[in-house]
Amino acid sequence: MTATIPFIDLKSQHALIGPAVNLAIAQVLEHGHYINGPEIEVLESKLAEFCNIEHVVSCSSGTDALFLALMALEIGPGDAVLVPAFTFAATAETVVLTGATPLFLDVDADTFNVVADAVEAGARAAAELGLKPRAIIPVDLFGQPANYPAISEVARHLGLAIIADAAQSFGGSWHGRRVGSLADITVTSFFPAKPLGCYGDGGAVLTKSLVVDGVLRSLREHGKGTSKYQNVRRGINGRLDTIQAAILLAKLPIFEDELLSRQRVADRYTANVPEIIRPQHIDKKVASAWAQYTVVLGDREQVREKLQAAGVPTRIYYPIPLHMLDAYRSFPRSTPVLPVSEHLAQNVLSLPMHPYLEEATQDRIIDLLR
Ligand SMILES: *Cc1c(COP(=O)(O)O)cnc(C)c1O
Repeated sequence: MTATIPFIDLKSQHALIGPAVNLAIAQVLEHGHYINGPEIEVLESKLAEFCNIEHVVSCSSGTDALFLALMALEIGPGDAVLVPAFTFAATAETVVLTGATPLFLDVDADTFNVVADAVEAGARAAAELGLKPRAIIPVDLFGQPANYPAISEVARHLGLAIIADAAQSFGGSWHGRRVGSLADITVTSFFPAKPLGCYGDGGAVLTKSLVVDGVLRSLREHGKGTSKYQNVRRGINGRLDTIQAAILLAKLPIFEDELLSRQRVADRYTANVPEIIRPQHIDKKVASAWAQYTVVLGDREQVREKLQAAGVPTRIYYPIPLHMLDAYRSFPRSTPVLPVSEHLAQNVLSLPMHPYLEEATQDRIIDLLR
Protein backbone atom coordinates (compact mmCIF):
# COMPACT_ATOMS: atom_id res chain seq x y z
CA MET A 1 0.00 0.00 0.00
CA THR A 2 1.49 3.31 -1.09
CA ALA A 3 0.77 6.70 0.39
CA THR A 4 -2.19 8.62 -1.02
CA ILE A 5 -1.13 11.53 -3.21
CA PRO A 6 -3.10 14.78 -3.09
CA PHE A 7 -5.46 15.66 -5.98
CA ILE A 8 -4.48 19.32 -5.65
CA ASP A 9 -1.43 20.11 -3.53
CA LEU A 10 -1.91 23.42 -1.74
CA LYS A 11 0.48 22.39 1.05
CA SER A 12 3.55 22.33 -1.23
CA GLN A 13 2.55 25.74 -2.52
CA HIS A 14 2.17 27.12 0.97
CA ALA A 15 5.59 25.77 1.92
CA LEU A 16 6.99 27.94 -0.88
CA ILE A 17 5.11 31.18 -0.19
CA GLY A 18 4.30 30.77 3.51
CA PRO A 19 6.58 33.58 4.76
CA ALA A 20 5.27 36.03 2.13
CA VAL A 21 1.67 35.14 2.96
CA ASN A 22 2.26 35.49 6.70
CA LEU A 23 3.83 38.90 6.18
CA ALA A 24 0.98 40.01 3.90
CA ILE A 25 -1.64 38.97 6.48
CA ALA A 26 0.34 40.59 9.32
CA GLN A 27 0.33 43.87 7.42
CA VAL A 28 -3.45 43.78 7.12
CA LEU A 29 -3.77 43.02 10.85
CA GLU A 30 -1.48 46.00 11.47
CA HIS A 31 -3.47 48.56 9.44
CA GLY A 32 -6.85 47.00 10.29
CA HIS A 33 -8.71 47.97 7.10
CA TYR A 34 -10.37 44.58 6.67
CA ILE A 35 -12.89 45.94 4.17
CA ASN A 36 -11.71 48.04 1.21
CA GLY A 37 -8.14 48.12 2.51
CA PRO A 38 -5.30 49.41 0.32
CA GLU A 39 -4.44 45.87 -0.90
CA ILE A 40 -7.72 45.76 -2.87
CA GLU A 41 -6.71 48.56 -5.22
CA VAL A 42 -3.17 47.23 -5.60
CA LEU A 43 -4.47 43.77 -6.46
CA GLU A 44 -6.98 45.13 -8.98
CA SER A 45 -4.31 47.10 -10.81
CA LYS A 46 -1.84 44.18 -10.79
CA LEU A 47 -4.48 41.85 -12.19
CA ALA A 48 -5.40 44.42 -14.85
CA GLU A 49 -1.75 44.64 -15.85
CA PHE A 50 -1.42 40.85 -15.87
CA CYS A 51 -4.38 40.46 -18.24
CA ASN A 52 -3.75 43.64 -20.24
CA ILE A 53 -7.30 44.84 -19.55
CA GLU A 54 -8.46 48.27 -18.45
CA HIS A 55 -10.62 47.46 -15.42
CA VAL A 56 -10.68 44.79 -12.73
CA VAL A 57 -13.33 44.81 -10.01
CA SER A 58 -12.56 42.30 -7.27
CA CYS A 59 -15.47 40.64 -5.51
CA SER A 60 -16.52 38.01 -3.00
CA SER A 61 -16.55 34.89 -5.25
CA GLY A 62 -16.74 33.64 -8.80
CA THR A 63 -20.46 33.14 -8.30
CA ASP A 64 -20.94 36.74 -7.19
CA ALA A 65 -18.77 37.83 -10.14
CA LEU A 66 -21.24 36.15 -12.50
CA PHE A 67 -24.21 37.65 -10.65
CA LEU A 68 -22.66 41.15 -10.68
CA ALA A 69 -21.88 40.91 -14.40
CA LEU A 70 -25.46 39.87 -15.21
CA MET A 71 -26.84 42.66 -13.01
CA ALA A 72 -24.53 45.19 -14.66
CA LEU A 73 -26.05 44.24 -18.03
CA GLU A 74 -29.53 44.70 -16.49
CA ILE A 75 -30.51 41.16 -17.39
CA GLY A 76 -33.76 40.06 -15.75
CA PRO A 77 -37.24 38.62 -16.21
CA GLY A 78 -38.16 37.92 -19.84
CA ASP A 79 -34.51 37.62 -20.87
CA ALA A 80 -32.72 34.44 -21.87
CA VAL A 81 -29.03 33.77 -21.26
CA LEU A 82 -27.36 30.95 -23.19
CA VAL A 83 -25.18 28.69 -21.04
CA PRO A 84 -23.47 25.35 -21.64
CA ALA A 85 -25.07 22.33 -19.97
CA PHE A 86 -21.68 20.85 -19.09
CA THR A 87 -20.39 23.21 -16.40
CA PHE A 88 -20.57 24.01 -12.69
CA ALA A 89 -24.03 24.99 -11.42
CA ALA A 90 -23.04 28.62 -10.66
CA THR A 91 -23.02 29.46 -14.38
CA ALA A 92 -26.80 28.87 -14.61
CA GLU A 93 -27.70 29.56 -10.98
CA THR A 94 -26.79 33.23 -11.21
CA VAL A 95 -28.92 33.66 -14.34
CA VAL A 96 -31.92 32.31 -12.40
CA LEU A 97 -31.13 34.67 -9.50
CA THR A 98 -31.55 37.68 -11.81
CA GLY A 99 -35.01 36.45 -12.82
CA ALA A 100 -33.84 35.61 -16.34
CA THR A 101 -34.04 32.17 -17.94
CA PRO A 102 -30.94 30.07 -18.62
CA LEU A 103 -31.12 28.21 -21.94
CA PHE A 104 -28.80 25.22 -22.14
CA LEU A 105 -26.50 24.56 -25.09
CA ASP A 106 -24.58 21.41 -25.85
CA VAL A 107 -20.76 21.51 -25.90
CA ASP A 108 -18.10 20.29 -28.30
CA ALA A 109 -17.05 16.65 -27.85
CA ASP A 110 -13.33 17.42 -28.19
CA THR A 111 -12.77 20.77 -26.43
CA PHE A 112 -15.73 20.40 -23.99
CA ASN A 113 -16.54 24.08 -24.61
CA VAL A 114 -19.49 25.81 -26.29
CA VAL A 115 -18.80 26.51 -29.96
CA ALA A 116 -20.09 29.31 -32.18
CA ASP A 117 -22.32 26.95 -34.19
CA ALA A 118 -24.52 26.30 -31.15
CA VAL A 119 -25.23 29.96 -30.44
CA GLU A 120 -27.65 30.78 -33.23
CA ALA A 121 -29.86 27.74 -32.54
CA GLY A 122 -29.90 28.69 -28.86
CA ALA A 123 -30.96 32.26 -29.60
CA ARG A 124 -33.68 30.98 -31.95
CA ALA A 125 -34.99 28.54 -29.32
CA ALA A 126 -35.15 31.40 -26.80
CA ALA A 127 -37.07 33.64 -29.21
CA GLU A 128 -39.54 30.85 -29.97
CA LEU A 129 -40.33 30.71 -26.24
CA GLY A 130 -41.05 34.43 -26.25
CA LEU A 131 -37.82 35.24 -24.40
CA LYS A 132 -35.37 37.92 -25.41
CA PRO A 133 -31.91 36.39 -25.91
CA ARG A 134 -29.57 38.86 -24.22
CA ALA A 135 -26.26 37.18 -23.52
CA ILE A 136 -24.16 34.06 -23.74
CA ILE A 137 -21.88 32.77 -20.99
CA PRO A 138 -19.17 30.60 -22.57
CA VAL A 139 -17.32 28.60 -19.92
CA ASP A 140 -13.57 28.00 -20.23
CA LEU A 141 -13.86 24.43 -19.07
CA PHE A 142 -10.97 22.96 -17.10
CA GLY A 143 -8.86 26.01 -18.00
CA GLN A 144 -9.19 26.10 -21.77
CA PRO A 145 -10.51 29.43 -23.11
CA ALA A 146 -13.55 29.05 -25.38
CA ASN A 147 -13.24 30.18 -28.99
CA TYR A 148 -14.07 33.83 -28.27
CA PRO A 149 -13.21 35.23 -31.73
CA ALA A 150 -15.72 32.85 -33.37
CA ILE A 151 -18.37 33.21 -30.65
CA SER A 152 -18.03 37.02 -30.71
CA GLU A 153 -18.76 37.13 -34.41
CA VAL A 154 -22.04 35.22 -34.02
CA ALA A 155 -22.93 37.04 -30.81
CA ARG A 156 -22.43 40.46 -32.38
CA HIS A 157 -24.65 39.44 -35.30
CA LEU A 158 -27.39 38.35 -32.85
CA GLY A 159 -26.95 41.31 -30.49
CA LEU A 160 -25.84 39.11 -27.58
CA ALA A 161 -23.45 40.27 -24.89
CA ILE A 162 -20.68 37.86 -23.90
CA ILE A 163 -19.83 37.11 -20.28
CA ALA A 164 -16.82 34.79 -20.19
CA ASP A 165 -16.97 32.37 -17.26
CA ALA A 166 -13.22 32.15 -16.72
CA ALA A 167 -13.46 30.77 -13.18
CA GLN A 168 -11.17 27.92 -14.25
CA SER A 169 -9.02 29.64 -16.87
CA PHE A 170 -7.39 32.65 -15.21
CA GLY A 171 -3.83 32.71 -16.58
CA GLY A 172 -4.80 31.02 -19.86
CA SER A 173 -4.63 32.78 -23.22
CA TRP A 174 -5.83 32.86 -26.80
CA HIS A 175 -3.13 33.58 -29.39
CA GLY A 176 -1.07 35.28 -26.70
CA ARG A 177 -3.99 37.38 -25.43
CA ARG A 178 -4.69 36.63 -21.80
CA VAL A 179 -8.03 35.46 -20.50
CA GLY A 180 -9.70 38.60 -19.15
CA SER A 181 -9.26 40.53 -22.37
CA LEU A 182 -11.14 38.14 -24.69
CA ALA A 183 -14.79 39.07 -24.00
CA ASP A 184 -16.94 42.14 -23.17
CA ILE A 185 -16.97 41.02 -19.57
CA THR A 186 -14.91 38.24 -17.99
CA VAL A 187 -15.53 36.75 -14.57
CA THR A 188 -13.12 34.65 -12.58
CA SER A 189 -12.84 32.90 -9.22
CA PHE A 190 -10.11 32.78 -6.60
CA PHE A 191 -11.59 29.73 -4.83
CA PRO A 192 -8.57 27.87 -3.36
CA ALA A 193 -8.60 25.05 -5.94
CA LYS A 194 -8.68 27.36 -8.99
CA PRO A 195 -5.42 28.13 -10.83
CA LEU A 196 -5.02 31.39 -8.88
CA GLY A 197 -6.63 30.74 -5.50
CA CYS A 198 -6.86 32.69 -2.27
CA TYR A 199 -7.39 31.18 1.20
CA GLY A 200 -11.15 31.45 1.18
CA ASP A 201 -13.68 32.78 -1.33
CA GLY A 202 -12.87 35.47 -3.85
CA GLY A 203 -13.46 36.52 -7.44
CA ALA A 204 -13.23 39.34 -9.96
CA VAL A 205 -14.96 40.89 -12.94
CA LEU A 206 -12.78 42.22 -15.76
CA THR A 207 -13.90 44.66 -18.46
CA LYS A 208 -12.70 47.20 -20.99
CA SER A 209 -15.65 49.46 -20.22
CA LEU A 210 -15.31 52.32 -17.75
CA VAL A 211 -19.10 52.52 -17.51
CA VAL A 212 -19.46 48.83 -16.63
CA ASP A 213 -16.60 49.20 -14.13
CA GLY A 214 -18.48 52.00 -12.36
CA VAL A 215 -21.73 50.05 -12.24
CA LEU A 216 -19.95 46.95 -10.89
CA ARG A 217 -18.29 48.99 -8.12
CA SER A 218 -21.71 50.31 -7.15
CA LEU A 219 -23.40 46.89 -7.34
CA ARG A 220 -20.82 45.18 -5.14
CA GLU A 221 -21.60 47.69 -2.38
CA HIS A 222 -25.39 47.62 -2.26
CA GLY A 223 -25.81 49.89 -5.28
CA LYS A 224 -24.08 52.83 -3.63
CA GLY A 225 -24.01 56.19 -5.39
CA THR A 226 -21.48 58.90 -4.72
CA SER A 227 -21.67 57.99 -1.05
CA LYS A 228 -22.37 54.80 0.85
CA TYR A 229 -25.89 55.65 2.02
CA GLN A 230 -27.07 57.18 -1.22
CA ASN A 231 -28.16 54.05 -3.05
CA VAL A 232 -28.89 54.53 -6.73
CA ARG A 233 -29.59 50.89 -7.62
CA ARG A 234 -30.13 47.57 -5.85
CA GLY A 235 -26.94 45.56 -5.41
CA ILE A 236 -25.35 43.08 -3.03
CA ASN A 237 -22.59 42.83 -0.43
CA GLY A 238 -20.06 41.51 -2.90
CA ARG A 239 -16.65 42.81 -1.82
CA LEU A 240 -13.40 40.84 -1.63
CA ASP A 241 -11.87 40.77 1.88
CA THR A 242 -8.65 42.76 2.24
CA ILE A 243 -6.90 39.70 3.72
CA GLN A 244 -7.74 37.65 0.63
CA ALA A 245 -6.41 40.42 -1.62
CA ALA A 246 -3.17 40.45 0.40
CA ILE A 247 -2.84 36.67 0.01
CA LEU A 248 -3.40 36.90 -3.74
CA LEU A 249 -0.73 39.61 -3.98
CA ALA A 250 1.69 37.29 -2.18
CA LYS A 251 0.83 34.49 -4.62
CA LEU A 252 1.07 36.49 -7.86
CA PRO A 253 4.90 36.41 -8.10
CA ILE A 254 4.92 32.60 -8.47
CA PHE A 255 1.80 32.37 -10.64
CA GLU A 256 3.53 32.44 -14.06
CA ASP A 257 5.93 29.71 -12.94
CA GLU A 258 3.01 27.66 -11.70
CA LEU A 259 1.29 27.98 -15.08
CA LEU A 260 4.45 26.68 -16.77
CA SER A 261 4.60 23.77 -14.34
CA ARG A 262 0.95 22.93 -14.99
CA GLN A 263 1.67 22.96 -18.73
CA ARG A 264 4.61 20.59 -18.17
CA VAL A 265 2.43 18.18 -16.18
CA ALA A 266 -0.29 18.33 -18.85
CA ASP A 267 2.22 17.67 -21.65
CA ARG A 268 3.57 14.63 -19.82
CA TYR A 269 0.08 13.18 -19.40
CA THR A 270 -0.82 13.86 -23.03
CA ALA A 271 2.36 12.23 -24.35
CA ASN A 272 2.04 9.14 -22.17
CA VAL A 273 -1.55 8.16 -21.43
CA PRO A 274 -2.57 5.03 -23.36
CA GLU A 275 -4.30 5.59 -26.67
CA ILE A 276 -7.75 4.40 -25.62
CA ILE A 277 -7.88 7.28 -23.14
CA ARG A 278 -8.83 10.51 -24.89
CA PRO A 279 -7.63 13.73 -23.20
CA GLN A 280 -9.54 17.03 -23.60
CA HIS A 281 -8.43 18.45 -26.95
CA ILE A 282 -6.68 21.80 -26.62
CA ASP A 283 -7.00 24.17 -29.57
CA LYS A 284 -3.62 25.01 -31.13
CA LYS A 285 -4.10 28.76 -30.63
CA VAL A 286 -4.88 28.33 -26.96
CA ALA A 287 -2.93 28.05 -23.72
CA SER A 288 -4.98 26.35 -21.02
CA ALA A 289 -4.55 27.33 -17.37
CA TRP A 290 -5.00 23.60 -16.60
CA ALA A 291 -7.37 23.87 -13.67
CA GLN A 292 -8.02 20.19 -14.39
CA TYR A 293 -6.51 17.53 -16.61
CA THR A 294 -9.51 15.59 -17.84
CA VAL A 295 -9.79 12.50 -20.02
CA VAL A 296 -12.65 10.59 -21.62
CA LEU A 297 -12.60 6.83 -21.16
CA GLY A 298 -14.98 3.92 -21.55
CA ASP A 299 -14.66 2.02 -18.28
CA ARG A 300 -14.50 4.93 -15.91
CA GLU A 301 -15.67 3.28 -12.69
CA GLN A 302 -13.22 0.40 -13.02
CA VAL A 303 -10.26 2.70 -13.72
CA ARG A 304 -11.32 4.98 -10.90
CA GLU A 305 -11.45 2.15 -8.38
CA LYS A 306 -8.05 0.78 -9.44
CA LEU A 307 -6.43 4.20 -9.11
CA GLN A 308 -8.12 4.80 -5.76
CA ALA A 309 -6.87 1.45 -4.44
CA ALA A 310 -3.34 2.49 -5.42
CA GLY A 311 -3.66 5.82 -3.57
CA VAL A 312 -4.36 7.98 -6.63
CA PRO A 313 -7.38 10.25 -6.20
CA THR A 314 -9.50 11.26 -9.20
CA ARG A 315 -12.59 13.46 -9.55
CA ILE A 316 -15.61 13.57 -11.81
CA TYR A 317 -16.36 17.05 -13.13
CA TYR A 318 -19.30 16.90 -13.73
CA PRO A 319 -21.33 13.74 -13.09
CA ILE A 320 -24.68 15.24 -14.13
CA PRO A 321 -25.12 17.92 -16.82
CA LEU A 322 -27.10 20.93 -15.58
CA HIS A 323 -30.19 20.30 -17.73
CA MET A 324 -30.63 16.91 -16.00
CA LEU A 325 -30.33 18.21 -12.43
CA ASP A 326 -33.52 18.59 -10.38
CA ALA A 327 -32.85 22.28 -9.85
CA TYR A 328 -32.48 23.06 -13.57
CA ARG A 329 -34.39 20.46 -15.57
CA SER A 330 -37.36 22.79 -16.00
CA PHE A 331 -35.34 25.32 -17.99
CA PRO A 332 -35.23 25.27 -21.78
CA ARG A 333 -32.48 23.88 -23.98
CA SER A 334 -31.55 24.34 -27.62
CA THR A 335 -32.52 20.74 -28.48
CA PRO A 336 -34.49 18.20 -26.39
CA VAL A 337 -31.37 16.08 -25.83
CA LEU A 338 -27.84 17.45 -25.38
CA PRO A 339 -25.96 14.28 -26.34
CA VAL A 340 -22.37 15.45 -25.91
CA SER A 341 -22.93 16.88 -22.42
CA GLU A 342 -24.72 13.69 -21.43
CA HIS A 343 -21.94 11.49 -22.83
CA LEU A 344 -19.17 13.50 -21.19
CA ALA A 345 -20.90 13.44 -17.81
CA GLN A 346 -20.80 9.65 -17.95
CA ASN A 347 -17.26 9.24 -19.25
CA VAL A 348 -14.94 12.01 -18.01
CA LEU A 349 -12.35 11.61 -15.31
CA SER A 350 -10.04 14.31 -13.93
CA LEU A 351 -6.55 13.21 -12.90
CA PRO A 352 -4.33 14.78 -10.22
CA MET A 353 -3.16 18.15 -11.59
CA HIS A 354 -1.16 20.84 -9.81
CA PRO A 355 2.17 22.62 -10.30
CA TYR A 356 3.94 20.52 -7.67
CA LEU A 357 3.20 17.08 -9.12
CA GLU A 358 6.59 15.37 -9.34
CA GLU A 359 7.56 13.38 -12.41
CA ALA A 360 8.02 10.14 -10.45
CA THR A 361 4.54 10.47 -8.92
CA GLN A 362 3.02 11.30 -12.27
CA ASP A 363 4.74 8.33 -13.89
CA ARG A 364 3.18 6.11 -11.23
CA ILE A 365 -0.26 7.45 -12.21
CA ILE A 366 0.49 6.91 -15.91
CA ASP A 367 1.72 3.35 -15.27
CA LEU A 368 -1.49 2.55 -13.43
CA LEU A 369 -3.54 3.93 -16.34
CA ARG A 370 -1.61 1.71 -18.74
C1 LIG B 1 -15.71 27.61 -9.49
C2 LIG B 1 -16.62 28.01 -10.59
C3 LIG B 1 -17.55 29.05 -10.43
C4 LIG B 1 -17.85 29.70 -9.10
O1 LIG B 1 -16.76 30.21 -8.43
P1 LIG B 1 -16.83 30.38 -6.83
O2 LIG B 1 -15.68 31.28 -6.54
O3 LIG B 1 -16.68 29.02 -6.25
O4 LIG B 1 -18.13 31.01 -6.49
C5 LIG B 1 -18.29 29.44 -11.53
N1 LIG B 1 -18.15 28.84 -12.71
C6 LIG B 1 -17.28 27.81 -12.91
C7 LIG B 1 -17.16 27.21 -14.25
C8 LIG B 1 -16.50 27.37 -11.84
O5 LIG B 1 -15.65 26.34 -12.02
